[in-house]
Amino acid sequence: MAIILDGKNLREKILADLKIKIDKFSKKPSLAVILVGEDPASKIYVKNKEKTAGKLGINSEVILYPDDVDEETIIRKIEALNSDDEINAILVQLPLPKHINKERVINTISPQKDVDCFTMENVGKLASGLEPSVYPCTPRGIMLLLDEYNIDLTGKHVVVVGRSNLVGKPLALMALKRNATVTICHSYTNNLKDITKTADVLISAVGEVLIEDDMIRKNSVVIDVGIFRDVNGKVRGDVEFDEVSKSAAYITPVPGGVGPMTIAALMLNTYELFLKQIKRSS
Ligand code: NAP
Repeated sequence: MAIILDGKNLREKILADLKIKIDKFSKKPSLAVILVGEDPASKIYVKNKEKTAGKLGINSEVILYPDDVDEETIIRKIEALNSDDEINAILVQLPLPKHINKERVINTISPQKDVDCFTMENVGKLASGLEPSVYPCTPRGIMLLLDEYNIDLTGKHVVVVGRSNLVGKPLALMALKRNATVTICHSYTNNLKDITKTADVLISAVGEVLIEDDMIRKNSVVIDVGIFRDVNGKVRGDVEFDEVSKSAAYITPVPGGVGPMTIAALMLNTYELFLKQIKRSS
């Protein structure tokens, strides 16, 4: 039976450590989150972020816009947040409505306040093997989880299923930086199973039930990034957990695996941007 990679437990540990550090400052880190529209999942994510920030003493400001807000309003707000010394970190919750130019909005964020490593400057640094301002939250959360269980990626074959800018691509780059041999798969990949079966570490970031027991290598590490509701409204991930956990060596549950680690990484990133801003202004 696989060892469960417990993201909930690690999140609590990370947040407890972080709170001690934040408590030492009279000035507190601040995070601004822009949420556009009524996407129910986004609203829940933003609420959780706000709640967690509150517990740590991080100031969080959520800026809500209706679905039909015009692009210029968002751009102007981000510009104001960029020049506001009281704000250390900015996050635009995705997805954005179709009429908004996502690239333009994201690239208005100052790279120094880009808490999820979204901007071209930070993505370029990540791709070049340089240090971005901070690493993207979900991939960073996964790396923290692997570190906690002493899972070293050096020389391992890491297969990432999913090539989104948010998860799959940065994850692959970060695994590469850790000297893994990386394969990225997507919806056009032929013979997916033949590839996933060769993975020492399989990371699935798709958003549908996909990974069955016959797709994994025995005693491998299986990381499930997917999170969605099935037809019965149950929260689940990409991996058939009950079967796969019998043959994997390590596995993340959904919920309770990668999700809590994303929040922990967001809080760490906010704190680190806060420290960098203090350093710059001193
Ligand atoms: P996305 O932008 O929709 O990307 C999904 C990726 O999966 C695409 O690259 C797509 O390939 C690939 N794909 C779809 N069907 C496939 C198939 N049958 N075989 C192989 N690849 C397939 O989604 P995302 O933003 O990366 O998110 C992925 C999942 O992770 C979602 O469930 C999301 O909710 C979850 N998520 C969780 C967290 C967390 O903190 N736990 C954070 C972020 C995202 P193409 O590129 O060819 O279309």
